[in-house]
Order: sequence, then structure tokens, then C-alpha cells
Amino acid sequence: MNAPRTTGTLYIDGAWTPAGAGRTREIRCPADGSLVAEVSEAAPADTERAIAAARRAFDAGPWRETTGPDRGELLHRVADLLTERKEDFALAESRDTGKRLVESRIDMDDCIACFRWFAKLAGVDAGRVVDAGSADVLSRVVHEPVGVCALIAPWNYPLLQAVWKVAPCLAAGNTFVLKPSELTPHTAMLLMEVLTDAGVPAGVANLVLGAGPEAGGPLSTHPDVDLVSFTGGLATGRTIAANAAATVKKVALELGGKNPNVIFADADFDAAVDNALNGAFVHSGQVCSAGARLVVEESVHDRFVDELVRRAERIRLGGPFDEAAETGPLISAAHRDKVTAYVEQAVADGAVVRCGGRWGTGELEAGFYYLPTVLDGVRRGTPAVAEEAFGPVVTVETFRDEDEAVEIANDTVYGLAGAVWTQDAGKAQRVANRLRHGTIWINDYHPYLPQAEWGGYGQSGFGRELGHAGLAEYQETKHIYQNLRPAVTGWFGGTDD
Ligand code: NAD
Repeated sequence: MNAPRTTGTLYIDGAWTPAGAGRTREIRCPADGSLVAEVSEAAPADTERAIAAARRAFDAGPWRETTGPDRGELLHRVADLLTERKEDFALAESRDTGKRLVESRIDMDDCIACFRWFAKLAGVDAGRVVDAGSADVLSRVVHEPVGVCALIAPWNYPLLQAVWKVAPCLAAGNTFVLKPSELTPHTAMLLMEVLTDAGVPAGVANLVLGAGPEAGGPLSTHPDVDLVSFTGGLATGRTIAANAAATVKKVALELGGKNPNVIFADADFDAAVDNALNGAFVHSGQVCSAGARLVVEESVHDRFVDELVRRAERIRLGGPFDEAAETGPLISAAHRDKVTAYVEQAVADGAVVRCGGRWGTGELEAGFYYLPTVLDGVRRGTPAVAEEAFGPVVTVETFRDEDEAVEIANDTVYGLAGAVWTQDAGKAQRVANRLRHGTIWINDYHPYLPQAEWGGYGQSGFGRELGHAGLAEYQETKHIYQNLRPAVTGWFGGTDD
């Protein structure tokens, strides 16, 4: 692994600044435990400073005077600079997460595409004039920025999940405080450099680093924060929504998923098996939309699972710079313990481990590797089926007809994503319409588009990122009604004493 980077700090009001109490945290690469860097660890007082800077920049700074097209140009500059520095970003992402360099490069391309999408949207829609039913009234509905936004991101796609928030937040004219996961801070730091170089004024973009409840606490409680956009786990999402209720902030929650991948017997067999592997094991299953629940038509179950297992056993694990590796480690020892416990509980509940079900050995012992795991014969209520294990673990359930497939696929508190595999176009559409999930793939798994909304039903959260709604999240809507011919109404009688 490459040499550790220099110490990273918080970025507040246009300046790099250590945490007030001088506290730091070691960042270690999950692929081999090597020290990546030591970075500042914010306390609530640091985050309050960042919120104050964002508040000043929103209320009094030059940022409020920018137009949508100005901000669109700025976001295009950000995309250009990200493109120039793509390799720096990809390396930093891979060191922090342990994910393969090739995947980090794809993530950076997705970040660039996201900035370009919101650059295009900025200023396109200035609102509308409403027909008030009178020639003497001008009635306009306009969009305005919400104000100070708290943007809280997870560790699995550290920059991408942050950029899904930062790009529309800036496009709409807000200021923000970004808090990446304490495990993966580096690309967020690089992003602050790029935003500054692109011309984002001081105080508009602020960064705090550190653990959730301490560094992140004020982001959902402080009265000067107008909006919280959170991506992360269900339990944290509940805490943030409850905290934010006291000051009635706007809240957007992008939480976990337990996503069904429904395979009908008439599906293209090879494509369905191949995509089931991608759905379940890309990034070792640490993907909110991972196809962790295979729902397979009974008549094709044996052949399908045999082939899935045969291929899963051949997946090569390795570190970010191992070119032969096909997937990487889990993010931490604690997370691997959690995944291990899910598998052990499933086995205790009667599941059959068809492959995997154990940690990586030999060279892999230096990191937090868990082998791709297929659990067959699972009980529906077992935690590995009902909850998000967020690891390389796929469970297999079977169905006999279309109704049962839909019933099983919708039997989750979550509702983030799902897929249906069949060569019958009518059946594909019928099932897609009946699935209660925010994204449905037909004969594919995982692609998403910056132009199309992303978000969850049920306890996968509320609000949408990307698409047009992804910008609307960061806008207030105001109705301005002007009487062009003011007159006495006479409602309260005469004007004489
Ligand atoms: P997490 O909930 O542990 O942490 C997410 C972020 O919240 C981190 O930055 C963390 O430090 C912060 N945080 C924790 N407690 C906080 C508090 N009290 N106040 C403010 N901030 C706090 O989640 P994670 O383990 O980092 O990420 C994995 C989860 O993210 C999975 O559940 C995954 O499904 C979800 N996720 C969802 C999407 C989506 O689009 N829906 C995308 C990626 C990840």
C-alpha cells in the first residue's frame, strides 16, 4: 500500500482548520489494515462553527446573488476539475474503502456525470406564471434555495453519495455542511479543494469530519440548519428524523434496502445468473440496492442455484490494486462481525450454506474479507432475509406463480430497489408495476441514471435524489401574488368615523 497521506482537517468558511480540541482519528485501509492517514475529528463545537459559516454565507454572502445559469457554469467547472483529477480521487477512494481501483474510477465518472446533470438543470426552470383569472393580477410561483443544508453521507460510495447531495444543493443556491463517514473522509476533502478552485465562495461549502453522534449531532438539531439530507442506515435515519422534528427541518432520508431479484423460469438463464452475481456481490454486497434476496421460480431453482454457486465460488477477492481481484474487503472488522452473525443466525434457523459462509484466508487475512455466500432454504423471517446484512450474502427463496413472486418480493419493511427477469414483456411490466420499490430493473441489475429519480418506498426512506426531484429537494416554492390595480375592498364597511 502507498505511503500515508498528510493529516487532513476540517474545511470551514474557506479555510482548512484542525478540530478545536486537536483530536484526530486514524484512517486504515480495510484491504490490509495499513495506515492511510490521520485526520481531524470534530466535536459538536466544530460543527457549530461550520453551521455558522454556512448561515452567514447564505444570509449575507455573494452566493445569494448568483443566478441559476451562473451556478450551472460553476458546476460544469467542478466537473472539468474532477475530470482532470480523477485518478487522485479514485486512489483516495480505494485507499479509504478498499474497493478496486477500477470501481473507484467508475464512481468518479458517475460523480462527474452527476455534476453535469445538475449543471444543466440549474436555472432551466425559473418557476411559472399562474393564470389568476384576472388581468389585474400577476401570480408567479418561484423556486428559491432552502438555506443551510446538512449533508450526511455513508462509507460505501463515499464521494458519489455526497455528490448526489452537493451538486443539486449548489445548483439550487444553498450553502452546506458536508459530513462524510468517519471511515472514508478523503474524497470529501479533495472535493472541497475542487469546489474552491472552481470558484465556490468561502462559507458556501463546509466540511466536518468525525463520528456520527458527536461531529454529526448538531447537523440535525441546530436551529440554523434548514434541511438535512441523510444517506445511511435505518437506525441512524430514525434518529436524525426524530432530532430534526424539534425544529421542523426539511428531511430527506436515503436508507437501506433488502432488494428482491425475481427470476422467472422463462428468463434468459445465462444473463440472469450473471446479473444475479453482480447484483449480490459487486463491492462485496455493500450496496444499498444489492440484490441480496433471490426470489426464484421453483421449476428453475436447482439449475439456477447450482450455476450461481459454481460461479460465486470462483470470484477472486483482493485489494484495490490487485488487478486480478474481482471484489474487495468489507469496510471494517466490526462490519465483518455483523455479516458473520447474520449468516450464523440463518444457519441456526435452518439455512443451507451453499458456498462461502466464512472469512478469507491466507493473504486475505490481513484485511476484512468475507467470501461470497449463497444461503439456500432460508426461512422468510430470519434476520438474513428480513434485514440488511450489507455484505456478500444472497438468500434464496422460491415461488410458484406470479402472485406469489410479487407477494414475496414485497414482503419487506424496505422498498429501495428490485429486479424482474423474464422474456415475457407483459409479465415483466405487470410485476414491475406491482413491486413496491423505488427502482425496478427488468432484465438487468444495478444501472441507474442521473436523469432518473432514485429513492425508497417504506422504510428505505423518503425524498428523491437525482432526476428533477433531486433538485426540487433543495428548493422552497414561493407564490408571489401581485395586485396590479390596488383598490379598497370595502370588506369591513365604511372608512368614515
Ligand atoms: P450509518 O447510518 O452508520 O452512517 C451514515 C452517516 O451518518 C455517517 O456519516 C455517520 O457518521 C453519520 N451518523 C451516524 N450517526 C449520526 C447522528 N446521530 N447524527 C448525524 N450523523 C450521524 O450508515 P453507514 O454504515 O455509513 O452506511 C451504510 C448504510 O447506508 C446502509 O444501510 C446502506 O443501505 C445505506 N445506503 C443507502 C443508500 C441509498 O441510496 N438509499 C446509498 C448508500 C448507502
